[in-house]
Amino acid sequence: VRDLLIRNARVWPSAYEDVIEDGSILIRDGLIRKMGRFRTRAETTLDAEGCLVMPGFIQAHVHLCQTLFRGAAEDRPLLPWLQEVIWPLEAAHDPDTLRASARLSCAELIRCGTTAIASFETVRHTDAVLAAASEMGMQGLIGHCLMDETGGYDPLCVDLDEALGLCDDWRDALPENSPLDLALAPRFALSCSERNMREAVAFARDRGMRLHTHAAEQIPEVEWVMEQTGMRNIEYLDRIGLVGDDALLAHCVHTNSAERAILRDSGTHVVHCPSANMKLGSGIAPIPEYLAAGISVAGGADGAPCNNRLDPFVEMRHAALIQKLRLGAGALPARDVVDLMTRGGARALGWDARTGSLAEGKQADLLIVDDRGFSCAPDADPAVNLVYSCNADSIRAVLIRGRIAWDEDGLAAAEEDEIFDQARAARRRLFQRAGLM
Ligand SMILES: [Zn+2]
Repeated sequence: VRDLLIRNARVWPSAYEDVIEDGSILIRDGLIRKMGRFRTRAETTLDAEGCLVMPGFIQAHVHLCQTLFRGAAEDRPLLPWLQEVIWPLEAAHDPDTLRASARLSCAELIRCGTTAIASFETVRHTDAVLAAASEMGMQGLIGHCLMDETGGYDPLCVDLDEALGLCDDWRDALPENSPLDLALAPRFALSCSERNMREAVAFARDRGMRLHTHAAEQIPEVEWVMEQTGMRNIEYLDRIGLVGDDALLAHCVHTNSAERAILRDSGTHVVHCPSANMKLGSGIAPIPEYLAAGISVAGGADGAPCNNRLDPFVEMRHAALIQKLRLGAGALPARDVVDLMTRGGARALGWDARTGSLAEGKQADLLIVDDRGFSCAPDADPAVNLVYSCNADSIRAVLIRGRIAWDEDGLAAAEEDEIFDQARAARRRLFQRAGLM
């Protein structure tokens, strides 16, 4: 049993709570045992030197498998972006290139303060992603992608029963109390038949797995769903059962009031990816309206090829600024943005009892952030600093389940140079296989 005491900290338990000045946090077995103003001794003591200590960010929509494609699909709208570059590269992945991509992704995510994820992988070898994420000390829900219709691009179409059988095998192989689990991720309405989506929903519900999909990202996609089904995208997902408090819908940029009522009444989690929405020219998701309606909203960077960073600070800044452009300066205050990138993510994963805020009994998933230097000084509100002034270089340490995953000595799980070298070599092999170089 190892004790870790963080002392001399400005402890910020969650977005809407006040900072505890000169606070301490005692961690044992990965959990926060005591938090507040107290004095005690522990095996290891970490002096936060007056820095902010706050919950880690939770990114509820990322694609670990796409990080090797960074910079390879620039300046295209969604459907050509997928069909011309992303899908051929996903189809060319093997376990080794997936492992390299997932390790690079987790390194960046952790370095930038992300302590849990809901990810969206490809249709094959998701066990390689689980293994790589585990090795890197990441936690969260790794989504196994399902596709059976692509309108002309078939290499990613897989047999549903076979895919679901693999999911059972991979879940059975996870250790007890694994910090990772599998989610089912039917890609989106355009790449999945109705039968595929309905069976995925039934399978996931039977096993208590979460469902993760993309919805209402761009207008041509919404129009296509309307043509095929006679329904708006969220109405269609409602009809086939792919809404609910176990469902994560990335984007939801284009929704009408009936669809918003479905999202609210079903407890569905919307995952906002503002940089990706800007880069693919998708539009601005009506996040303040969702929050006012009581819809659960989380945040995420989406894939590296449509961002190109996996940095929650960038997402928070963009999330706040694009709403002000749309609705005026009063829209989406900083605290709401921090809340959606922390507690909102925990809710989306179904993990709000264990992470998303700092409290006794919860996991020690936390960041030590120096918000006192350039761009921050002199003292400003921590939420305002986090959203507008800080960046990943403001982070001094990242703890996941009480363990230091990154600090100023580097990543705990691997050497950064080795990860970069492996990723470069894997990218070459992958692009050659896909015929893209
Ligand atoms: Zn995505």
